[in-house]
Amino acid sequence: MNIKSVSDFKENVLLAPLTTFKIGGPARYFAEVASESDLLSSFDVAKNMNLPVFVLGGGSNVLIADSGFSGLVVRNRTIGMEIIKEEQFGGQGVALRVFSGESLARLVSFALQNSFSGLEWAAGIPGTVGGAVRGNAGAFGRSASDLILEVEAYDMSVGKKIVLSSQDCDFRYRQSIFKRDPNLIILSVKINLEVGDKKTIQSKMIENVKIRAKSEHGIKNSAGCFFKNIEWSGVDKEKLKNILPEIETVENKYKLPAGFLIEKAGLSGKFEGNAKIHSGHCNYIINENSAKADDVKKLSDLCKKIVAEKYGIDLEPEVQLVGF
Ligand SMILES: Cc1cc2nc3c(=O)[nH]c(=O)nc-3n(C[C@H](O)[C@H](O)[C@H](O)COP(=O)(O)OP(=O)(O)OC[C@H]3O[C@@H](n4cnc5c(N)ncnc54)[C@H](O)[C@@H]3O)c2cc1C
Repeated sequence: MNIKSVSDFKENVLLAPLTTFKIGGPARYFAEVASESDLLSSFDVAKNMNLPVFVLGGGSNVLIADSGFSGLVVRNRTIGMEIIKEEQFGGQGVALRVFSGESLARLVSFALQNSFSGLEWAAGIPGTVGGAVRGNAGAFGRSASDLILEVEAYDMSVGKKIVLSSQDCDFRYRQSIFKRDPNLIILSVKINLEVGDKKTIQSKMIENVKIRAKSEHGIKNSAGCFFKNIEWSGVDKEKLKNILPEIETVENKYKLPAGFLIEKAGLSGKFEGNAKIHSGHCNYIINENSAKADDVKKLSDLCKKIVAEKYGIDLEPEVQLVGF
């Protein structure tokens, strides 16, 4: 494709099938781009038309409104990865450059094929590399930011490419500069991995996928964990123990699990329309049968309200709400 004008965009494209929730209305304008030049031209066209832009990766961390998105949705399919530097870190490390539309799954299998260690935690996480960097995706105590050397991004507010060091990206738990400033679009990422033993890497990946399969058993049509887990530093444990003595059972976890609080608040299995709080893992809201975005939103608002009332903790969505 070669995007030059609005006539190169599709119109009124239903977004639900492009998300793991299988929820969401149409995009007023839509483009699926496979090259960086098309990605940037689509931004230019949208700017000239004063259209808001939303970049969609794998759609695995979004809840799109039933009314859809009244601007341009660009589905990022800019793929590719290359080894850019070997023999770093005393001969043990490699650096890769990966385009942001590349799927995390393909990156994980590339790492395995080449015996590169560092991405074992990511096995089984859906979505694109761009989405993972923006949300600082993670699992098993590791996250994307552990690997990032630098990020090449496009600043839509000034129409310029910029290169950010890992420090500039200001990564925190499920947080980054890209999440705070939606004008910054990730184009490619430079990451570092260690050269390791293929069998060890493979068995760790299999182990992680098995743990994941167990905890996600019976879950489909979701966007992963709906809320962020809570950092212990922000929790008054002694106070919480008085109201919720069972807190002791999760004290050894990296974070206070949001799903634990939702479960203890009595919301397991709760329905709103056709959206349901999964009864096995209460941080998953699932689309049971053509649920509306509004159903999911109401259910998540209920979780926030009850958990705040009962435990004084403010749940923060991890899922990006679009068009609300
Ligand atoms: C079954 C399941 C399990 C999951 N498990 C985990 C897990 O263990 N850990 C975890 O962290 N997450 C998990 N997730 C959530 C999700 O997979 C990750 O957050 C993923 O990294 C999102 O990537 P995506 O490409 O699908 O992003 P999308 O859902 O497409 O987009 C999410 C946000 O990122 C923005 N974005 C996408 N690409 C770019 C870009 N190039 N530049 C700037 N912004 C961009 C979008 O605009 C949007 O705001 C899970 C989801 C599911 C469905």
